[in-house]
Amino acid sequence: ATPKALMVGTGRGAQLGILIKGPELLESTRRVDTVVLDKTGTVTTGQMRLRDVVPAEGESADDVLLLAAAVEDASEHPVARAVATGARERLVATPGAEHPLPAMADFANSEGLGVRGVVTAEGVPHDVVVGRASFVEGSGTAVPDELATAMRRAEESGGTAVVVAWDGAARGVLVVADAVKPTSAEAITRLRGLGLHPVLLTGDNAATARAVGAEVGVAPDDVIAEVLPADKVDVVKRLQAEGRVVAMVGDGVNDAAALAQADLGLAMGTGTDVAIEASDLTLVRGDLRVAADAIRLSRRTLATIK
Ligand code: ADP
Ligand code: MG
Repeated sequence: ATPKALMVGTGRGAQLGILIKGPELLESTRRVDTVVLDKTGTVTTGQMRLRDVVPAEGESADDVLLLAAAVEDASEHPVARAVATGARERLVATPGAEHPLPAMADFANSEGLGVRGVVTAEGVPHDVVVGRASFVEGSGTAVPDELATAMRRAEESGGTAVVVAWDGAARGVLVVADAVKPTSAEAITRLRGLGLHPVLLTGDNAATARAVGAEVGVAPDDVIAEVLPADKVDVVKRLQAEGRVVAMVGDGVNDAAALAQADLGLAMGTGTDVAIEASDLTLVRGDLRVAADAIRLSRRTLATIK
């Protein structure tokens, strides 16, 4: 490869809004045949909002939201941000509620699963757990059918539902959702146009992931869901072991290892520093269509070199 032609590639890349770490990496993009796309923050905006509070029978929706938010306030996870913000928006207007979130102690975060903490409300401490149904069940708390049904319904429409439990009983379900980016479906069409095979990868549940896949044109068979943060890298390795040359697009801390493992790592410029550092390319504006541009550009640049 002549450095000059590659420099042209990088200059054009900058115009398109692609930051390229080193010209040598462009070599590896030529044989890419599979593009693994993180869901939250990559295909979707990542700006989750609280959509619904479903209390279990006999529970108050406000209590469910309040106690959950008291714990989630200590987490940076997009689900947690949506819950804490939603609680402030909905409950801050309550007369006399100067400090809408009760005190919380003994916070513990289980990456990709959920959170727990002791929340003191009206002088009574409660052991609160918020997270995936499997996480709450793992703590010894059953999720009743009425809540499981509410979760399934929310997930089938692309939402993410988490269980709120305290003192050993499931008290309700919170539904959060973010929107698919308006550019994502077109981006996936463009990737297919380049002969690439898109795969959607997420820690979120399968029903939510499939609903998002359907919205952007990724078939259910190409949706890999409920993958723990530490296991995303194994999915990339498995695809590589099958002989695929993998580009990975992601934005989160939980994508960093997979981005580094991929033959080509592309980070959303709107994402975390950890993801950007682990990647070969950064899509400055966080527009997924530019991932297709980046791969096309690098192929064309290599063609001019040969
Ligand atoms: P993604 O791969 O989509 O970025 P994560 O692996 O970070 O998702 O999280 C997977 C799932 O774990 C979430 O969809 C949610 O159900 C649960 N979860 C993780 N963190 C939290 C939290 N702070 N509060 C509630 N649920 C959580
Ligand atoms: Mg993400």
